Amino acid sequence: MTAPVTTRGPQETPGPRGGRGSEELIRAEEPVLAHNYHPLPVVVARAEGTWVEDVEGRCYLDMLAGYSALNFGHRHPALIEAAHHQLDRLTLTSRAFHNDRLAEFAERLAALTGQDMVLPMNTGAEAVESGVKVARKWAYDVKGVPADRATIVVAADNFHGRTTTIVSFSTDETARSGFGPFTPGFRIVPYNDLAALEAAVDETTAAVLIEPIQGEAGVIIPDDGYLAGVRELTRRRGCLFVADEIQSGLGRTGSTLAVEHESVVPDVLLLGKALGGGIVPVSAVVGRRDVLGVLHPGEHGSTFGGNPLAAAVGTAVVELLETGEFQRRAAELGVILREGLAGLVGKGVVGFRSRGLWAGVDVDPALGTGREISERLMREGILVKDTHGSTIRLAPPLTITGEELREALGALEKVLG
Ligand SMILES: *Cc1c(COP(=O)(O)O)cnc(C)c1O
Repeated sequence: MTAPVTTRGPQETPGPRGGRGSEELIRAEEPVLAHNYHPLPVVVARAEGTWVEDVEGRCYLDMLAGYSALNFGHRHPALIEAAHHQLDRLTLTSRAFHNDRLAEFAERLAALTGQDMVLPMNTGAEAVESGVKVARKWAYDVKGVPADRATIVVAADNFHGRTTTIVSFSTDETARSGFGPFTPGFRIVPYNDLAALEAAVDETTAAVLIEPIQGEAGVIIPDDGYLAGVRELTRRRGCLFVADEIQSGLGRTGSTLAVEHESVVPDVLLLGKALGGGIVPVSAVVGRRDVLGVLHPGEHGSTFGGNPLAAAVGTAVVELLETGEFQRRAAELGVILREGLAGLVGKGVVGFRSRGLWAGVDVDPALGTGREISERLMREGILVKDTHGSTIRLAPPLTITGEELREALGALEKVLG
């Protein structure tokens, strides 16, 4: 991309600027692309900050931010500069050798999150898989659980990714059906229910793995005290607390981590999405030395994990978060979001949950499915995505302005009116 996106709001323009138009490109995907997604009918060609532009030159406000992979907006200058700088020097070594970017990334990420060690991976699902492996290894090596007996307690309606093991402990039939046989060793309890958790934990339990806020489930925020309760319970019962902060972490909720709202420090954090700055996939398992220290050479790995390009971009992401500016913006603008949504309750919105710049909005089903509302918003120049049923998720880049946020809320009011 050479010139920035300058126009705002949807504009009806005559057609594609050379090349194939949106409809043609969407039709072209059909026979050659696996149908595992049902995207909104918009074909994005360029983006800058909070705005994306389609192939016909229509502009949209991005209120999804790549499911929080774009917390700093599209093409944040500091992140693009870090990537360019690194592209000109070194992109990949594999972990067969050291690279000159990885130490700083690990040091600064550990310091930012108040942990000791970092296991760099690429995608969120890989971080979750790695967290599961580390927890199991810890159970055998440190806790003394008999071989192959370790269990991990998870919450119903979780979303932790798409691998075979992860869908093994999903309660979403669409995500599971047809993909068995499943990996054993998981116990599922209701979310936000400490008594159920207490009952599920026993001497085989390696870890409790939960999202501090359940994103895909519809931005479900547990009661005050739940996360502190999970911390107390796991400590008392001698198992690890693994928090999946892949979507909730890195500024989204108004703090670096969502667990900070209850001043809780888990034993292991899973990070991803925004860690790659919207440029490359970067994920990490971050944890205490006595936990991540259970891994020895050859026991786990990744060809791309910790590559210098990822480390350079990841370090630039950590640097942005070290300023506290994005966390502060999320907290402050989150007030506008919450007040705006509160004003829509009874006017098409039946309920909502929000923390920072993250909201799950339940729309009156009589007005349409989440999908239909998303399509109507798209026609108003606002991009969002439904989670399920009549719930839509709002998760704009943390760089959004108050004015842009009010514009999005105004569009929501219009399509519900
Ligand atoms: C997105 C997500 C994942 C999976 O990340 P991928 O990069 O898509 O594999 C895991 N956990 C949570 C909470 C997520 O939101």
